[in-house]
Amino acid sequence: MTTAPLAAAVSAPTPSPSPMPRYIRMHDNDNVAIVVNDGGLPAGAVFGDGLVLREAVPQGHKVALVDIAAGAPVLRYNVAIGTAARALAAGSWIAEAEVVMPAARGLENLPVGTRGQQALEPLEGYTFEGYRNADGSVGTRNILAITTTVQCVAGVVEHAVARIKAELLPKYPNVDDVVGLEHTYGCGVAIDAPGAEIPIRTVRNISMNPNFGGQAMLVSLGCEKLQPARLFPKGSIPIANNGGEVAHVCLQDQAHVGFMSMVASIMQTADRQLAQLDLRRRETCPASELVVGMQCGGSDAFSGVTANPALGFATDLLVRAGATVMFSETTEVRDGIDQLTARAASPAVAEAMIAQMAWYDAYLTRGGVDRSANTTPGNKKGGLSNIVEKAMGSIVKSGSSAISGVLAPGEKLTRKGLIYAATPASDFICGTLQLAAGMNLHVFTTGRGTPYGLAAVPVIKVATRTELAKRWHDLMDLDAGTIASGEASIADVGWELFHMLLAVASGRKTWAEQWKLHNALVLFNPAPVT
Ligand code: CA
Repeated sequence: MTTAPLAAAVSAPTPSPSPMPRYIRMHDNDNVAIVVNDGGLPAGAVFGDGLVLREAVPQGHKVALVDIAAGAPVLRYNVAIGTAARALAAGSWIAEAEVVMPAARGLENLPVGTRGQQALEPLEGYTFEGYRNADGSVGTRNILAITTTVQCVAGVVEHAVARIKAELLPKYPNVDDVVGLEHTYGCGVAIDAPGAEIPIRTVRNISMNPNFGGQAMLVSLGCEKLQPARLFPKGSIPIANNGGEVAHVCLQDQAHVGFMSMVASIMQTADRQLAQLDLRRRETCPASELVVGMQCGGSDAFSGVTANPALGFATDLLVRAGATVMFSETTEVRDGIDQLTARAASPAVAEAMIAQMAWYDAYLTRGGVDRSANTTPGNKKGGLSNIVEKAMGSIVKSGSSAISGVLAPGEKLTRKGLIYAATPASDFICGTLQLAAGMNLHVFTTGRGTPYGLAAVPVIKVATRTELAKRWHDLMDLDAGTIASGEASIADVGWELFHMLLAVASGRKTWAEQWKLHNALVLFNPAPVT
């Protein structure tokens, strides 16, 4: 990352919002900054330091702070996000076409463990009210989850879930919800192919998410490739959870005569599971039991200026409190691999990160694309020139601590601290894989805006801009745009988010929960379908 801690320099010191032209530079060495005023700025606008805009610049887009020669590096976050395609005079708008993207950093000769090695000062005394499980994990919600082996059963499960919610759930006031874990895997797939273990272990590990209280329940079809014994091999369920057993209903069971008989079986099983879950009670747990998954979606140039740095500050607080924090989205951190290996807690962690990146490079090559396939039209409209710039703004989520572990896609966490959980950047796939890892809280930053939510875990959405937070006032949980307007510091918003995480973990509803908004589980299946 940077050689010095990021300290966003705001061009005007005024503490309240004003129409005065403003830019934010992320590092003293940067030769570009982004315009923060709503609606952008016209040609001739003059900043507090005397810089004059030579042309109109949209909000979130870059302005040259000094003359940049053709071929010279364009520096943001003290990192070359590319080189200038032509000479750019101070005050010029640096549009996407003006920045030539550098080649991807190779995976050889990377620095290992050179930064972030000094342990951060412990942060003690913070707690939340959570559901402690027999296997030692802690949930933030109390939910009956119905796992499925195959998409074929989805319609029946959906029908049954609606009836369980209407007829059974009211009897169990301590249970929050019932969720069908539906997915498109399970049959018509090359189940022995390399990579097939990823979707299989993802479904297995999601079933044991801490919010489900160890009461795994499964609905299978009967003839599918993903047989129950393959999904849950002997010993895969902790003995503490139901004696290592999963409550199971098979639709092709001879005892089922007709559809209503299948639904009755599912409801009887659900009734027993709900009775167990209803015994769970919240108790005071240390903040070290939080398992926070982080990602961004619908990013703009403000993501890396406001929301993600505030999230990075909160990440450091969480790590200091002994919690687990996952950052992911391989294509969005790939360009910062040298920064990440430098923060590895050990050579083994650095090697594991490099192995995940190398696997993903090969996966993309097989598909005939590279990392530049990541950026969206909305990213570019929001001012992000390329994936390098997007990556630098994404990595700041991870704060400054040492990286203590690496998870391959679909694996379950085994240690605390800051973890790189390798996942695609796709919002739905990343969220699904972080659920499998065992997250009990999700933080999602967005600049363009998305109503994203998950059924199994609360999602706290952080807006990068005040304009979005106001327009989507009943979808965004936190406004980090106050950092751009100068009303709040990165630390202020970071602490606000930390306190919000503890409150939501204790039961306070997010907007997505309030409206029951949730996206589908989407499994990452790099193997062929048949
Ligand atoms: Ca994402």
